[in-house]
Amino acid sequence: MDDIYLDKNENPFNVPEKVRKEFINYVKTANFNRYPEKWLPSLTKKLAGLTGFDIDNIIVTNGSDELLDMLIKHAAGDMVISSPTFEMYSFYARNYGYNVIDVPLRSDFSLDVDGILKQKDAKLVVICSPNNPSGNLMDRESIKKVLDSGVTTILDNAYYEFSGEDYTDLLAKYKNLIILRTLSKAFSLAGMRIGYGIADSGFISELKKLQAPFYMNILSARMAEIMIDNYDLIGEKIRYIINERERVYSEIKDIAYPSSANFLLIKKDIYDYMEEKGIHIRKLPLVKDRSRLTIGTKEENDRAIEAIHEYIEKIF
Ligand code: PMP
Repeated sequence: MDDIYLDKNENPFNVPEKVRKEFINYVKTANFNRYPEKWLPSLTKKLAGLTGFDIDNIIVTNGSDELLDMLIKHAAGDMVISSPTFEMYSFYARNYGYNVIDVPLRSDFSLDVDGILKQKDAKLVVICSPNNPSGNLMDRESIKKVLDSGVTTILDNAYYEFSGEDYTDLLAKYKNLIILRTLSKAFSLAGMRIGYGIADSGFISELKKLQAPFYMNILSARMAEIMIDNYDLIGEKIRYIINERERVYSEIKDIAYPSSANFLLIKKDIYDYMEEKGIHIRKLPLVKDRSRLTIGTKEENDRAIEAIHEYIEKIF
């Protein structure tokens, strides 16, 4: 049996055939000798249409990783995170020599708002919702309390499409908020590296000052546009993944937490056990006795469920 990869929260589906064809047609006549249009007006417009915002409220980046990098560099000071969470926040802060203050999530993975608000010197707070790796959404009222303090806040919403929770209405009130999204997950474009942020136009224009005019290649930008034009095809896959997430969870709920994303946090470290079966999952070096399973295709999930059932029989 072939190995399967349920380790990076990727979409198990490649881009739809229709999208691939449109992209290949573009490649046939693309002007590779020319620079992209400065700041990608066409893609920015499509993202504005997709999200219901103006182009001035959108910044497009090379993966949302690049946006995190820019935001952390821009904040230039102590950053608050709530572990367990996405490791790249600390990676960038450390690269710039900024302090990372960890105010851990509570045992039910909710935000410790009072703990965050005590960090008076913080220049930046990062809230990940749905959180990677715990999979849960953060409560709106808690997020608002953090925003009310006025501190610049990143709401990392990379798994938005699987969650059914839209926080963009908060942007009308809070100019200190930026919502980070990506085309790597629901849009099946992890290999193309496209992320974006939505925020107040003043905040976006500050950030754009840090960005070179020709930062993204024309192929990634065009592929993103084609995918957005075919959003109906993506919607089908999102529903499939959500249904599979619920099915897998109901099968293994003795050792998994519920999730609003495209992965499940497992209450045991089953990494080595799954590796032996050719099922690659995420080890989570910073989270003791846990591991993370990405939702794949039905067939892949069946293999994971079977392996985990065997594991449960052994330990209980
Ligand atoms: N935020 C979170 C919470 C993530 O899990 C990831 C990817 N694993 C990212 C951001 C970055 O995604 P990308 O750079 O592919 O847009």
